[in-house]
Amino acid sequence: MFAKVVIDIKHEEVNQLYDYIVPQAFEDFLVRGMRVIVPFGHMERMGVVVSLHEKSDTATKEIKEVLDLIPTLSDEVFYMLDIMSKGSPELISALYQTVIPPELLVGYQKVIRILDVTRIPDDLKPFFSKRGIWRLKVMDHVYYPRLKRLKDLGYVSIETEIKEKKTEKWKTEYTYNPEHNYPKINLYPMIEEIKHQDNPFEKQALYDLGLSDFMIKTLVKHGVLIEKKASVKREIEHVYDSVDHHFQLTSEQKNAINQIKSAKEHHVFLLKGVTGSGKTEVYVNVIDDVIKHHGKALVLVPEIQLIPQMAQYLTSRFDKVAIYHSGLSKGERYDQYQMIISGDADIILGTRSAVFLPINNLKMIIMDEEHDESYIQKEGVYYDTKTLLLAKASYHNIPVVLGSATPSVTSIYNAEQGMYTLVELTKRPKGLPMPRLTFVDMKEELKAKHYAIFSRPLIQGIEDRLQKKEQVILFLNRKGYAPFVMCRSCGDVPKCPHCDVSLAFYKDKKIIKCPYCGFEQPFEQTCTVCKEPKMKEVGVGIEYVEEQLKKTFPKARVLRMDKAEMRTKHAHELIWNEFKEEEADILIGTQMVTKGLDFPKVTLVGVLIADMLLKVPSYQATEKTFMMLKQVTGRSGRLLHGEAIIQGYDLNHFAIQSVDQDDSSFYKEALLQRRLLGYPPFNQTSQILFSGMSFLKTYQKAFLMKKEVEKLGFSVLGPAQAMIKKIKDQYRFTLTLKYKEKSLESLFSLIEHLKTDDIEIKFLPILDLW
Ligand code: ADP
Ligand code: ZN
Repeated sequence: MFAKVVIDIKHEEVNQLYDYIVPQAFEDFLVRGMRVIVPFGHMERMGVVVSLHEKSDTATKEIKEVLDLIPTLSDEVFYMLDIMSKGSPELISALYQTVIPPELLVGYQKVIRILDVTRIPDDLKPFFSKRGIWRLKVMDHVYYPRLKRLKDLGYVSIETEIKEKKTEKWKTEYTYNPEHNYPKINLYPMIEEIKHQDNPFEKQALYDLGLSDFMIKTLVKHGVLIEKKASVKREIEHVYDSVDHHFQLTSEQKNAINQIKSAKEHHVFLLKGVTGSGKTEVYVNVIDDVIKHHGKALVLVPEIQLIPQMAQYLTSRFDKVAIYHSGLSKGERYDQYQMIISGDADIILGTRSAVFLPINNLKMIIMDEEHDESYIQKEGVYYDTKTLLLAKASYHNIPVVLGSATPSVTSIYNAEQGMYTLVELTKRPKGLPMPRLTFVDMKEELKAKHYAIFSRPLIQGIEDRLQKKEQVILFLNRKGYAPFVMCRSCGDVPKCPHCDVSLAFYKDKKIIKCPYCGFEQPFEQTCTVCKEPKMKEVGVGIEYVEEQLKKTFPKARVLRMDKAEMRTKHAHELIWNEFKEEEADILIGTQMVTKGLDFPKVTLVGVLIADMLLKVPSYQATEKTFMMLKQVTGRSGRLLHGEAIIQGYDLNHFAIQSVDQDDSSFYKEALLQRRLLGYPPFNQTSQILFSGMSFLKTYQKAFLMKKEVEKLGFSVLGPAQAMIKKIKDQYRFTLTLKYKEKSLESLFSLIEHLKTDDIEIKFLPILDLW
C-alpha cells in the first residue's frame, strides 16, 4: 500500500504531495488524516496522510513512524481544506498547518555530529558536547552556513531530529499493597495511616505523614507501596462564580427555542434578536435539548474577550464544557483537546479555530455575533469561519444557529431568499425598553467654547451614574486612525520616508514610528519645516481618554479594555469579572467593548466620536458604523432603564441616524447599494495587489494582468493605487474583481505565471483596506 503525504515544510518547491510506501506493520490501522514521520531528502519530517493507494510510480521510501491512533484530521476537515484551497492560493503545507491543532505540530532541531575532530575550527569546539554533539538552538543558526561547509567536506554530519512537543502532564502516585511481606514494616508507624486513608497518595501527602524520599524508595522496593504514573488534567481556572439563572422565558424566546428544536436535519436559523433580548438563553435551552439526546454542541464566539461571559453562562448550566482558544496555555489547550476528541465534553466553546475540531456526534452548531469581522481569518491562511461552519453542519447534517442583533447584510439577504429561516426576538425581557439615544453635535460644543472630549450632556450623565452607583461604558473607535503629530504653525505632518503614511505617535516612548515598516525617530517639538516649537499630538487615543476621565472624575474607578491591556494571560477574564462585580464604575475601550458584553448595571454608554469610521474608504463603512453603534449602545439598560449618548461631528449621516430607528430601512438601503454597485451578495468580489519598486513597471504589470483576467471572464476595475500607496518603498496597485460563482483555479495559475522577482502579485480574497 502507498500513501500520499503532505510534508510539513512551507516552501513553494515542495508544494505538492509525495508518495511513500506503507510498511506492512502499519497497513492495518493507517488511515488518512494521521500524522506520520517520513524521510525527506536527508532529513526526517512530519507529514499528514492525505490518501491511500494500491499503486504508485514514484514511491521509493517508507513511512517511518505513525504518530496517531485516531486521525488528527477528520473527514470533515478534508472537506473544509478543499473549500479553503479553492478560495485562496495557499501552500498545501500552510493549509495543513492551519487546521492541525498547534499542540499537535512537531518541532525540528538540527543536530551536528563531529566526524573528524582535527578539522573542527577552535572557535566552534566549545559548542559541542563531550560526545561531539551540538544541538542547534535558534540563536546558533548564524553558524549554520559554516557548519554546512564542514559537512560538505565530510568533517561533520547534520541531521534533523523531530521533537514532539511535550504536552501531556504526569504525576506519580503511590498505592498501598496489602499483600506485601516486608518484615521490617513495623519500623514505619506511618504506614498505619496509609492503610486507613484513601489511596492513592501523591508524594507530598507521604511527606506530610513523615516519610522521607529514602523511606518511600525502600517501601517501593519491597512492594509495600506501588508507584504509578497518572496523567494530570490541567483545569482551566476561572475567576468568576457560577450564576443562577431562573427565568420565565418570554414568548418570543419560547417560540425561537421550539422552532430550532424541531429541526432535525441541516438547516440554518438566523436568530435576530435586539441587544439584550436574551439570545444566550435561547442557545442554552436548545443545547440542553441536544445534550438530553446525547448529542454534542459547538458554540463559537468571535473573540476571546467574549469567552468568559459565555463560559460562565454555559458552565453554570452544564457540567462538561470544553473551552478552546488561543488564549490558553499549550498544556491547557492540549487537555481540552483530549477532552473533546475522547467525547468527554458535551459542549465545546471556542473562537474561530474551533471549527476544525473533530467532534463526534455533533448535533448543533451555534455561531454567536455572526456578523463579526473577526470570524474572517485574514493573517496567514485566509478563511471565513462561517463558510466552514456551514460546510461542517451540512457534513454532519445538523442545524446551525447564526445569532446577532445586527446580522450581516448578506445573512439578511439569505434569509429573504429563503436560504435561512429568520427567527426574531424583538423585545427585551420584562418589558424593559431599548436605551434612549441622545446625539450630541461636537461642533456645537466647540461653538459654546466647551473644548473637552466629553460633551456637557455626557459629563452630566456620568456624574449622575456615579452618584446612583450605576455603571458607564465609554467607547472610542480607533479603527482607520492612529494618533499622529502635526505642526500647529505650518501644518506639517511627519511622514514615513518609505511608506505613504503619517508616522504614529507613541507618547510613552516619545517617538514617532511607521506602523508598516517600523521606521522610527525621536519626537521633537521643533518642526523640521518651519522650525517653530509647535509640533503637537493630533486626535485622541484611548490613553488620553483615560487621562482626561481621571482628571474630570477623580473619584471614579476606571477600567480599560483594549488590545494593549489584554496581552497577559486571562487578562480579558479579569477585567470582565472586575467590571461585572462592580469593582469599577467606568469601562473605557475600543472595539472590544462594543461586542456582546452583558453588564446588568450599565445604564449609560457614551460614544466619543461616532463618525470616525465613516472616513474610511470602504464600501462597508456605512454598515460597519451602523452595526457598531447599534451594538455598543445596546450594552446599556439591560436590567435597569438605560441611555446612550452619541457624540460626533457628522451626525446627520444615514448610518448614524438609522441607529435610533427600526433597522429594516437600513438593511433595505444597504442591499440596494450593494445591488447597484455589484457587491456581495450579488457578486463575489476580490482583489489582486501588485507591489514593486518601480511605479511605472508596477502599474504596467497591473494593466497587463487586467487584460488577461478579463479574458478569463471576470469583470475588473482598476488598476488603482491602493489605499496606502507605498509600503517599504514598494508602490502598490490593485485590481478589483467582480464575478459570480466561478472557479478561481485559472486565475491562481495566471498569477503564479505572471509573478516576477521585482513585482509581487498577491490574491486577496475579500475587499478590505489593503
Ligand atoms: P443578547 O440577546 O444581547 O445576547 P443576553 O443573552 O446577553 O442578550 O441577555 C441579556 C440579559 O437578559 C442577560 O443578563 C440574561 O441573563 C437576561 N435574560 C435573558 N432571558 C431572560 C428572561 N426571559 N427574563 C429575564 N431576564 C432574561
Ligand atoms: Zn514606513
